[in-house]
Amino acid sequence: MTATKTWNTEEFWGLGYDFDPQWLLTPAQQELQAKLIDLCATVLRPNAIESDRELVYPRKNFEALASLGLLGLIVPQDWGGLGENHVCAAMVVETIARYGCPSTAMCYTMHLGAVAALLFRAHHSTEFQDLLRRLDRDVLIGSLSYSDPETGSHFWYPVSSKAERVESGWQVHKKASWTTSAGFADWYIVQTTSPEFDGNYSDLSCFLILGNEVIAEPQKWDALGLRGNQSGTLCVDGVTVPLNRMVGPKGDGTASNDEIVDPFFLLCSSACWNGIAMGAIDIAKRHVTRKKHVDVGMRVADYPTIQDYFGEAIIDTNACRCFTFSMGKLMDDLTNQCDWSIHADLTALPRATYLPWYWQIKFAAAKNVAHVCDKMLHACGGSGFKKDMEIERYLRDGKAGWVMGPTNEVLRQFVGKLALLGFDSLDYWNQTVNERVLHNEVKKLDAEGKRKLAAELLQQADAEDLHQAMRPLVGSGV
Ligand SMILES: Cc1cc2nc3c(=O)[nH]c(=O)nc-3n(C[C@H](O)[C@H](O)[C@H](O)COP(=O)(O)OP(=O)(O)OC[C@H]3O[C@@H](n4cnc5c(N)ncnc54)[C@H](O)[C@@H]3O)c2cc1C
Repeated sequence: MTATKTWNTEEFWGLGYDFDPQWLLTPAQQELQAKLIDLCATVLRPNAIESDRELVYPRKNFEALASLGLLGLIVPQDWGGLGENHVCAAMVVETIARYGCPSTAMCYTMHLGAVAALLFRAHHSTEFQDLLRRLDRDVLIGSLSYSDPETGSHFWYPVSSKAERVESGWQVHKKASWTTSAGFADWYIVQTTSPEFDGNYSDLSCFLILGNEVIAEPQKWDALGLRGNQSGTLCVDGVTVPLNRMVGPKGDGTASNDEIVDPFFLLCSSACWNGIAMGAIDIAKRHVTRKKHVDVGMRVADYPTIQDYFGEAIIDTNACRCFTFSMGKLMDDLTNQCDWSIHADLTALPRATYLPWYWQIKFAAAKNVAHVCDKMLHACGGSGFKKDMEIERYLRDGKAGWVMGPTNEVLRQFVGKLALLGFDSLDYWNQTVNERVLHNEVKKLDAEGKRKLAAELLQQADAEDLHQAMRPLVGSGV
């Protein structure tokens, strides 16, 4: 028999466990989920309303999550964590978003991404291991700082950043246009071009930067939804950090993105959008089953139109949830249940092979949440339009899904282009010449135009040759 879902010791007013894919969770994970729902009812959800109205960063919610050991959810037990797997991470994020606070769920998603990036390269670093051991005890919130003001949602292309080797370590420069928890997190994983950068933007490195080493502007944050998430600008202004703060070897950024940051961010943020969609369905169910129309003697829930809204919303959302959890299950299978010791071998990148699948779960979940929240608002009528029912907040929060990088426009093009033209056509770092376009444009020039272009190109080629020839002299300080 399915257990009864409770809310403040009474039966939950939304959908019960019979609409949740509980078979994917172990008994221990189901127990954790029930405890987390209790915490959402008593602490996280009341704080969510305050965060949204007053733009308050949800640190109190992180303190509550730490009381269940959730900041170290995926940290191995030997290092003081819960040692949980990817399916559990998706469940926890979904639960926080659905019953508690979507802003907290997004901050927690970035925290887990940052924790995973550190775990990926913590085997030979006592400093990283020490931080990982203290996550819950000291409520140490992490975040990912990648997006660059010059390249928008192409967060893998950090133009406004660099790192240099100096006598006492690495001097790190980073300008980030968005960083969840900016100014509130205790530590950040920051990506820059690698030291000795030579113009190849696929050569990236990661650094651990502490809260007191960044400049943030939380006072400028004001947005449609996820208002507690505080995703403001972040600047690391030439701060020198010790050598052991580079995360992984020099040039490890691409491996870190493909194996860890993308898979974790896409898995957990998809779970966040799915949680918001379920949260909107829960709220709407409570309303339509209670509201009566005296003239026709029916509740709103008795109209077949409303039943259709719910049927479709539940089916579509559960398709997204099962898709997301199946990627979590795949990640568990690939890594022996999220065993971080496999990464003592720096070349082990089992998650990265499936990158196009993570793109697909994010696209589906972010598309679905906007549609479902919209339909649930329609089902609730004018009452849903008012703030006190909370459905408008879920609708606003869910809107972040489509626009967060990688945006849904970018993702659907990546998947379509990959399927039709192959991997090289994606050209993340603008390095592959599109000969078809090039020749087509040159064809449009007359003889004079071609000569002018050829002269310009020869001049550029000479300048590049000269620059190359000078490089060793510049490097030797001459
Ligand atoms: C709530 C929230 C939290 C965030 N948290 C973080 C964080 O913690 N860390 C972090 O690093 N970043 C974070 N971001 C940033 C996010 O990942 C994106 O970088 C950001 O949303 C991009 O905004 P933009 O205005 O620069 O969009 P743009 O990139 O300018 O996009 C504008 C439009 O152009 C489209 N577009 C862009 N490129 C292409 C293309 N190649 N083909 C077709 N269309 C394209 C987009 O889809 C969009 O429709 C966050 C964003 C939000 C909204």
